[in-house]
Amino acid sequence: HVDTDTALAWVRAIAESVAAHADQLTRLDAAIGDADHGINMRRGFTAVVAALDAARWSTVGEVLTKTGTTLVSTVGGASGPLYGSAFRAAGKALASPEVSPEELLAGLTAGLEAVQRLGTAEPGDKTIVDAYRPALDAFEAALRDGADLAGAARAAADGAEAGMRDTTPMVARKGRASYLGPRSQGHQDPGATSTALIFRALAEVAD
Ligand code: ADP
Ligand code: MG
Ligand code: MG
Repeated sequence: HVDTDTALAWVRAIAESVAAHADQLTRLDAAIGDADHGINMRRGFTAVVAALDAARWSTVGEVLTKTGTTLVSTVGGASGPLYGSAFRAAGKALASPEVSPEELLAGLTAGLEAVQRLGTAEPGDKTIVDAYRPALDAFEAALRDGADLAGAARAAADGAEAGMRDTTPMVARKGRASYLGPRSQGHQDPGATSTALIFRALAEVAD
């Protein structure tokens, strides 16, 4: 099960990972965007940790909702509203102190739906969706095969990383990278890369 402390640990682990990989994320964004994805993500998750430190939280949903609202208000780029909506939608779906792996999957699915509702990206558009969708598919398949939370989260992280790598040959059809047209090919998508970090952080805390 995922309890409120696990949710807090997950978000803190994301913040650490995003800070550790900020230069990489910014370098990827320099190739096909405006060289700020690492800066945006680090700023956002630094603010999230400060906000989470400033109060006590009694449900998984509260932690994820606060994460989402803080991202929306501190990250100016496309990724702020997209990840912000995802965490808010997941938080809304997970309004209890403890959630099962199946409930977590449902919450994460609500998050992906929020990303797609806001950004209208489909798989193959070279975005966050290209890591997020395979992560959820792998999470679901692992649960179906009898995996526990740790196993399912590991499968999700592996799926996200495979999806992230698969963005390299794609032509971007959403966001700034789409302005490059075919010149966006041959570069890994920054947002898919940060999504993979988010799922790897979940696998680490679920272990
Ligand atoms: P900005 O492009 O505004 O500078 P960031 O650099 O923080 O914002 O984020 C860029 C990432 O956002 C891209 O690599 C891509 O993965 C993701 N992204 C952009 N537009 C969309 C969209 N419509 N749907 C999903 N993800 C998107
Ligand atoms: Mg950018
Ligand atoms: Mg920007």
